[in-house]
Amino acid sequence: MLTRIKGGRVIDPGHLDTVADILIKDHKIVEIIAAGQKEAIEPVSRIIDASGKIVCPGFIDMHVHLREPGHEHKETIESGSRAAVWGGFTAICAMPNTDPVNDNCEITEFILSQAKRANFAKVFPAGSISIGLEGKQICEFAQLKACGVVAVSDDGNPVMDDHLMQTALAAAQSHDLPVISHCEDLNLVAGGVMNAGAVAREMKLAGISNASESVMVERDIALSELTTAPVHIAHVSTAESVQALREAKSRGVRVTAETAPHYFMLTDEAVRQCGTHAKMNPPLRSAEDREAVRRGLADGTIDAIATDHAPHSSREKAVDFGKAANGVIGLETAVSLGLKLVQEGVISLTQLIEKMSTNPARILGLESGLRPDRSADLTILDPDLAFRVDIEQFQSLSKNCPFDGWQLQGKAILTMVDGRVVFEEENPTK
Ligand SMILES: [Zn+2]
Repeated sequence: MLTRIKGGRVIDPGHLDTVADILIKDHKIVEIIAAGQKEAIEPVSRIIDASGKIVCPGFIDMHVHLREPGHEHKETIESGSRAAVWGGFTAICAMPNTDPVNDNCEITEFILSQAKRANFAKVFPAGSISIGLEGKQICEFAQLKACGVVAVSDDGNPVMDDHLMQTALAAAQSHDLPVISHCEDLNLVAGGVMNAGAVAREMKLAGISNASESVMVERDIALSELTTAPVHIAHVSTAESVQALREAKSRGVRVTAETAPHYFMLTDEAVRQCGTHAKMNPPLRSAEDREAVRRGLADGTIDAIATDHAPHSSREKAVDFGKAANGVIGLETAVSLGLKLVQEGVISLTQLIEKMSTNPARILGLESGLRPDRSADLTILDPDLAFRVDIEQFQSLSKNCPFDGWQLQGKAILTMVDGRVVFEEENPTK
């Protein structure tokens, strides 16, 4: 039996942008029929009316912290992958800083089996670069890859040892595994808890310089050039990092980068209103940095938008700013905040889809795209739906969101994974 998604504006960047119907059968896209083309011969079991809506390849969040195993009170694989599909993501890449760390096949296989049981978003685990995230000994990349990891990262921790990073880049390249680098020089951070600047001074909090990020971005660029291995820079937050990436890309270095919605929407001023819900690592930066991140998104220097979804319970957040855990959740707001960037004229809708689907798929080596015979993983957006962000409605187990109460326009209203509707907005006119 066929499912027909009817009359939507179908956008697959670089390939398709037309009003069309999509026919789906047995988990796969069978055919994309442009308006006015022939009718399907087989009977259709379900029609999804997408007129006035945008149909895109399923969104992929390449940077998510699910807290299972180890911290299930913050998020489980089930709750996190449910939050993902509610936010319009069909696939997420799970960072390895769980407890125990995903540095071996037993944990990788556990994550994959829990994800399969949850049956919401596809979960692609990242393995760690170093055993136990300790930065001392490199993991068995061949084994990890064979068990199903799609990338390696010590995210949460930087790889401080330059030589270890060089070795890891070369080893990962030989196994065709992307390396996702959390760029932070801990010696420069030296106990800082928020962006160095006027707000930190007024609040009497220890600052974190832009250099603590950009010197590591520069190092990774140098190591990528040295080894010819690709490197992906996580959560870019500073103007200096964006400029270093721009120059590296212009001379052909195999570097890619992501940023997160909080870095293109907020500045360190948010710490005044949101307190620990605006504490993350790297920290929210200045207005100039936010502008630089936006320019980096617009000109292609920053390839991807990822959430760095980092759930924490109130236990870890309702404490002194200095002691609070780093991170905010993002799965259920990212698509709408991305659409806000489009409304503000910073990037086009097609660029947004590239940065939230096409490019993450390319960087991680995943299948994506709206073509016959591909998996029917897709997201339907209603660009006009106005709503108020309400953390009480979130599927995530955690509430650490600085966007609570924001009035936004545009939202994912249907998420399909392997031809199955896993999320559908109940009240699309609210
Ligand atoms: Zn990180």
